[in-house]
Amino acid sequence: MATIEIGTARARPSARVDGMLKVADLPDGQPMQIPVTIVQGPADGPVLWLHGCVHGNEFCGAYIIQTFLRDLDPAALRGTVVALPFLNLTASQRNQRMSPFEGYNVGDMNRCFPGKEDGGLTDQMGHAVWTHLKRHATHLVDFHTALTPDTHWSLVAGHEGKVRTEGLAMARAFGYSPCLPTPPGTLNGSAMMAAGAAGIPSLIIEAGGIGSAFSPETVKEGAERLRNVARRIGLLGEKVVDHGKLTLVSNFAWCKAAHGGLFKPAVRCGQPIKKGGLVGTFFNTHGEKVADERAPATGVVLAINPGPLLPQGDILIHIGLEPRLETRAGE
Ligand SMILES: [Zn+2]
Repeated sequence: MATIEIGTARARPSARVDGMLKVADLPDGQPMQIPVTIVQGPADGPVLWLHGCVHGNEFCGAYIIQTFLRDLDPAALRGTVVALPFLNLTASQRNQRMSPFEGYNVGDMNRCFPGKEDGGLTDQMGHAVWTHLKRHATHLVDFHTALTPDTHWSLVAGHEGKVRTEGLAMARAFGYSPCLPTPPGTLNGSAMMAAGAAGIPSLIIEAGGIGSAFSPETVKEGAERLRNVARRIGLLGEKVVDHGKLTLVSNFAWCKAAHGGLFKPAVRCGQPIKKGGLVGTFFNTHGEKVADERAPATGVVLAINPGPLLPQGDILIHIGLEPRLETRAGE
């Protein structure tokens, strides 16, 4: 069995090891380190790579990963789980999306993969993580959130062949529907698309909302769904739970606010919406109605912005286009 060593965490058969991975230098010159856990079974098998908090204030996934790890018996594994629940830890410490130490670069870690050795701070952090991910991972699950607790959908790297079919099998095992098989050229710089291009089946889970806007049920159920992904890829010899067919969407569109003010949404995550349908209403700060906002496309609502006060141009809802139930696997 090839030894997996990530930072100070060195895998051992039938054991869980915790360690730290240095991803960059802090402004005081001390190492910026992020936590790593490796759980390895007694025999070789797939390497399931899990990470969360690519966007620092998207904590739900870190809770799901930690809950999943707590219930994992190393002796029962046929392969390895590598977990980095806080990829953008300095952003998480401030409860914000991007690292407070990012300079003049954009710093969206979901646009920084596979990273750049000579890039900005987040590019270099991405590079430090990617080096290990590319070397070891056979499957990737990357956890994100939207803004509200009722967010539950997924994306897979849509590269043709095994990446797409295995990715969809992972999405089916997790069982959040709808799902976007993401066309190459979309979401460039996400860990998911970088991994897909490198031949690694990859799944993004959008579970819950930012900060503390998620429920204990989403965490508990998310950990069980993640365990089902581990079963599906052969890491665990337990029976795979059938969550049914996915609703596939072809791409996504945003509804951007034509006004600013106090926003009252009229839709929920997961509901169908028609082009021209009511998305919500803006009121001014005197309480007078300013305008209704209408959907720019027909589809399914993937995520909503709950307000309350929003500037003109903010994204109000995220729409999955051309939703359709799978006929056969992945079609
Ligand atoms: Zn995110």
